Amino acid sequence: MSAQSSDSASWGNTPRAETANSDLPFIPLAVPTITDHEVARVTDAVKSGFVSSVGPYVAEFEHTFAELVGSKYAVACTSGTAAIHLAFAALDVPRGADIAVPDFTFVGSSNPVAYVGANALLVDSDRETWCLDQDLLIEALENRKRKGEALPAVVEPVHILGQPARIDRLVEFCLSNGIAIVEDAAESLGATWSDGAFAGRHTGTIGTIGAFSFNGNKIATAGGGGMLVTDDADLAARAKHLSTQAKVPDIGYLHDEVGYNYRLTNIAAALGLAQLDRLDELKARRAHVARRYDKAFAGTAITAPPRVPGFDATYWLYSVLAPAGIGTEYRDALWKHMGEAQIGSRPLWRPLHMQPPWQGSAQLGGAVAEDIFNRGLSLPCSYDLTDAEQDRVIDVALEFLSQLR
Ligand SMILES: *Cc1c(COP(=O)(O)O)cnc(C)c1O
Repeated sequence: MSAQSSDSASWGNTPRAETANSDLPFIPLAVPTITDHEVARVTDAVKSGFVSSVGPYVAEFEHTFAELVGSKYAVACTSGTAAIHLAFAALDVPRGADIAVPDFTFVGSSNPVAYVGANALLVDSDRETWCLDQDLLIEALENRKRKGEALPAVVEPVHILGQPARIDRLVEFCLSNGIAIVEDAAESLGATWSDGAFAGRHTGTIGTIGAFSFNGNKIATAGGGGMLVTDDADLAARAKHLSTQAKVPDIGYLHDEVGYNYRLTNIAAALGLAQLDRLDELKARRAHVARRYDKAFAGTAITAPPRVPGFDATYWLYSVLAPAGIGTEYRDALWKHMGEAQIGSRPLWRPLHMQPPWQGSAQLGGAVAEDIFNRGLSLPCSYDLTDAEQDRVIDVALEFLSQLR
């Protein structure tokens, strides 16, 4: 099946239909890097016969991951979305409660809110980080308190595009008001703070629970997979239990509640582990690509992604803002221009308040999220992208700008 979008512009990793026969080699948006190391680990998992959810790699993956991010416990599962669902389920979020999520995020953040029968409270982004605006949320929650209204059961900050969110005041507010924090760190493996309240800590380890993804396009992949991290032994045990059909160990088929089949396979864990072995290398390459783009777009009408001193981003999916126009006009024109030059690019997410399942949700602001959507485009940033290929992307983007005058 081809991944062409209806308006025939490239959808990222496949060429536009009408330019598919071009002489220029196509540059995909973001594809994984698989070396002999990954092949060796996966081959070992397959040959061992433990191809499914029993096998040594799953426990090793969990242990290695917990150590890597500095968390006490890690629970592997089938996806980042499953990890967030398990987090809400383990926290026993009551049906009808509110969960605050950023308006500007991928639906993997918000779908689990609906899975547990909670209501999304959509929070606009701040300009500084493109992540959830903590001041806007705290102000609204202080107002609710004054009026004696219920506070959300959970606040779910998302470290968008590998950029750590600014959540210092929000964490304090949640701690003093009994609100759980579930960090969606699906895009921010490797991102840390080097200054401020969380200096030396990894994104995903600040809240009650953190969730990571090993989908094919993330920083490190397991083919598909997720990881839940927490310092709370009971929550970790509960999440593990729920991920394995709530089967009580050592008793014949006793399931003490309704669980889920969210176990990660041993093969996927082997691939994930091999990628974790290479994490420094994966991060360094993305940082190199990001620095070259930042430099190329500085002083132009293309806006580079956020850079916050002391917030050490991991540069997932390098994304720029096209010049502001009417709606999505310049973003679409740049996207089309890239596609015609055999370069894969992709618009950023439509804000949740513009998505059918979330249109009725309570909403704080939304203009910043809409602006990022209207103008945001992700550019090629695969591990294997060469400097020469990146120069071609930069030339095509700058050529687009010169045509705007
Ligand atoms: C990828 C992603 C998810 C979901 O991860 P999957 O492994 O694809 O289920 C959740 N939230 C964000 C912000 C993501 O980018």
